[in-house]
Amino acid sequence: MLKNKVAVVTGASRGIGKSIVLALAKSGAKIVAVDISLNGMDALLAEIKALGSEGIAVEGNVTVAADSEKMMEQGIAAFGRVDILVNNAGITRDGLLMRMKEEDWDAVLSVNLKGAFLCSRAASKVMTKQRYGRIINIASVVGQMGNAGQANYCASKAGLMGLTRSNARELAKRNVTVNAVAPGFIVSDMTEALPDKVKQEMAAQIPLERFGTADDIANAVIFLASEASGYITGQVLAVNGGMYM
Ligand code: NAP
Repeated sequence: MLKNKVAVVTGASRGIGKSIVLALAKSGAKIVAVDISLNGMDALLAEIKALGSEGIAVEGNVTVAADSEKMMEQGIAAFGRVDILVNNAGITRDGLLMRMKEEDWDAVLSVNLKGAFLCSRAASKVMTKQRYGRIINIASVVGQMGNAGQANYCASKAGLMGLTRSNARELAKRNVTVNAVAPGFIVSDMTEALPDKVKQEMAAQIPLERFGTADDIANAVIFLASEASGYITGQVLAVNGGMYM
């Protein structure tokens, strides 16, 4: 489905980013796997190869403009083009509003929102020239509904949805679509560490009665990354088991 397409994925070495990379590779895309450190990247490149595709690893910090340009340049140098950008890198620094440190606000906004802006800006130069592109931003259900203790994170993800709509309007005439995926509670290192009782209470808020998986998110990304989604832009696709409608 994505044969001859080239995808840049940020925060690629683990978690949801890694699942997205493997799903893209399985669909035939060539991968530019970006992360702040190259830990785990050799194994990831071997998995991409085993799926019959190819990839390169790029050490890059999404909050640094020069790094956002570098990931596109290295993608072009290796594979000749960049068709897909998945802005997945994200962090949390949770805390109640009254006690939230300014540096924790700045760090989360910087990675989750400024990072997506910088990488989208770098990708847009390539994609508009090609007259083809798919940008997918990984937001969160809490950017839609809010969450106590996550003022910085929720604001960053709500901002990412605004960025999605603005960039969608700007890039549409060059056949570049921009959409977001908003995951709900996903099985991850973070949620695995919670006590069973807390997990059960959280799952009880979800009509489909389970946490999502990284593959649930990757499946939505594959659709938005494909030519099949060509008439969809500026949208937020909720992948949350129905917990927020
Ligand atoms: P994760 O396991 O913490 O992975 C995030 C990756 O991004 C890590 O490899 C991390 O590197 C990398 N990263 C962090 N800062 C970076 C930077 N400045 N530049 C480049 N890479 C950077 O996260 P996840 O749970 O898979 O989440 C992935 C995305 O989904 C995030 O945007 C998150 O907000 C969103 N999301 C997750 C959930 C969930 O339940 N897990 C729910 C809703 C939305 P290090 O290894 O060095 O930290």
